Amino acid sequence: MPTIALIAHDRKKPTMVALVQQHRALLARCDLIATGTTGSQVADATGLPVTCLLSGPLGGDAQIAARVAQREVAAVVFLVDPLYAHPHEPDIQGLLRVCNLYDVPLATNLSTAQLVLGALLPS
Ligand code: PGA
Repeated sequence: MPTIALIAHDRKKPTMVALVQQHRALLARCDLIATGTTGSQVADATGLPVTCLLSGPLGGDAQIAARVAQREVAAVVFLVDPLYAHPHEPDIQGLLRVCNLYDVPLATNLSTAQLVLGALLPS
């Protein structure tokens, strides 16, 4: 099963939950990993098993970056809030960098996430 990583900044978490609910049947065939708060909200709302890593500001983005660098992640859905500054900006940039370094699909907004999930997970 492919591993999909999920991260959403706070104001994007409802969008992430709705996205996962929309693709629930397909994502049920994946291993889901996520930063802490995103993962717990997705798991609570959908009932899907999610491996919750540390919260983003506490190193969760860096943990996902490490998994990407180890070639363990098929795609990253990272719904970013472009209107808010984040204390863990260096970790965010590191995650974006390793996705580009290893050419791992990376969706940073909803429209791209729909395209990536649709392509990765044909029904
Ligand atoms: P969170 O982290 O899911 O623990 O809120 C996301 C982030 O801000 O990177």
